Amino acid sequence: MYQTKYHKPASIDDAVAALAVAEDGKVLGGGQTLLPTMKQHLASPTDLVDVGGISGMADISVSDGCLTIGAGARHADVAASSVVRDAIPALACLAGGIGDPAVRSMGTIGGSVANNDPAADYPAAVLGLGATVVTNTREIAADDFFEGMFTTALEEDEIITAIKFPIPSSAGYSKFPNPASRYAMVGVFVANGGSGARVAVTGAGQDGVFRADSMESALSSNFSAGSLDGTSLDADGMMADIHGTAEYRAHLVSVVAKRAVTSAV
Ligand SMILES: Cc1cc2nc3c(=O)[nH]c(=O)nc-3n(C[C@H](O)[C@H](O)[C@H](O)COP(=O)(O)OP(=O)(O)OC[C@H]3O[C@@H](n4cnc5c(N)ncnc54)[C@H](O)[C@@H]3O)c2cc1C
Repeated sequence: MYQTKYHKPASIDDAVAALAVAEDGKVLGGGQTLLPTMKQHLASPTDLVDVGGISGMADISVSDGCLTIGAGARHADVAASSVVRDAIPALACLAGGIGDPAVRSMGTIGGSVANNDPAADYPAAVLGLGATVVTNTREIAADDFFEGMFTTALEEDEIITAIKFPIPSSAGYSKFPNPASRYAMVGVFVANGGSGARVAVTGAGQDGVFRADSMESALSSNFSAGSLDGTSLDADGMMADIHGTAEYRAHLVSVVAKRAVTSAV
């Protein structure tokens, strides 16, 4: 057994202060990953700083061509939000496909992005849309944020406050879910915007979410599923586990990418 102190700060400043004095403090989002990890004694923080009660933390708004989602917004809220559905329908669809209703009613976008599970859905949207991760101290471009499996550019005790998504002309997400957990065996987010196409793949890479350059080039010339016919990804660097080989995942990326483009157009 170990003791953990629970904090419910009313502001980001209070959360930062609580983390600063904690011996081994952790930010608590929806607890869908952190609490099971604690139950298994894989983590034993001295302090849990629950950012869920901070005013404005779950706000969702659009301004200047950007959709901003507060880090505390739960997956179910993003899926149901008319603001998200109007601005980037693919993002609402992605949120509605995460896990099961219990996970969606507690899990938050900030927790998912901070955790950077290699099979999580949101990292594909953040990278595929070229979003910006806003924290209590700075703004981090998606291309600089994801640094590898379960690793991000976040500093110790840095708190994600929101994610800013530029609104694309069109976007689509498709995933081939693990039938048990619903995590992505492979998930592909495609976006078409002013500066060309972006393609982000989750569930497949050994280093977590990544951009598929060859697919981006093909789609920037012609944003259609058919333009992906000649593209394929190397199995080198793909994950291999009891659910599928690296070759299987590489093939699946092509299949799922075409479905994502079809859903976008
Ligand atoms: C059965 C099951 C099925 C699932 N299926 C899927 C799925 O299909 N797709 C998918 O993408 N995910 C899935 N998940 C994961 C789910 O989406 C979680 O919600 C997510 O991984 C973590 O979000 P959370 O808000 O619960 O974070 P928490 O568990 O509270 O925290 C996770 C980590 O993020 C940190 N953190 C939390 N919030 C912040 C913040 N604002 N700033 C900085 N750090 C923060 C915590 O300190 C911790 O290290 C599943 C989970 C379960 C239990």
